[in-house]
Amino acid sequence: MAVLLMGAASLFGLAADAVMHKESKMVQEINFSPVYCFNKPTQKFIIRPEFIGCVIGEDESMGESEIVEGTQRPNEIHPQVLARFHSAQAAANAEGIEMSIDSGFRTVETQNYLFQRAIKEHKTAEEAKKWVLPSDLSRHPWGLALDVNLHHDKSGASWLEANGATFGLCRVYENEWWHFEPLIAPGGICPALKPDASQVK
Ligand SMILES: [Zn+2]
Repeated sequence: MAVLLMGAASLFGLAADAVMHKESKMVQEINFSPVYCFNKPTQKFIIRPEFIGCVIGEDESMGESEIVEGTQRPNEIHPQVLARFHSAQAAANAEGIEMSIDSGFRTVETQNYLFQRAIKEHKTAEEAKKWVLPSDLSRHPWGLALDVNLHHDKSGASWLEANGATFGLCRVYENEWWHFEPLIAPGGICPALKPDASQVK
């Protein structure tokens, strides 16, 4: 009888352990924060749980939030922005849509040159800023802005406008159908368009 009771107790103990384990696992599964990765072998966008993360050597991280300016000027497109673009590009290609970055990272010098040129073209700095921002305001010299298909078929940019939020890329301005920035986490909702770039600061 004593043996039987002990057996029952340990059985209950096991059962309780199993329930607790199951519950904590369920909580973990429900509450995990996803990480967004571009899987290089399959060229596909993959959502992985945070405790796995993007797999080193296989994935490129797309970042988990809006991507903002760093502390140092880069010399190329932000790697997570590029991973977002590559994910979107692969998905678009699968639907027969071509997509290319016609202008991404620009040096401060190039951005200033483009701004000065725009002032000549549009007569005033205020008018020029609607189309080209000076280097201290533009996100191109931070590697955080992509001009997509500007010199190519517009359908690639239209596709990205419709589907970019999945990959964390948003069209920003009403007057620039080609200009995209990583304003949100992948899978988020893009903010409403601003009329033009002169609205920035
Ligand atoms: Zn742009």
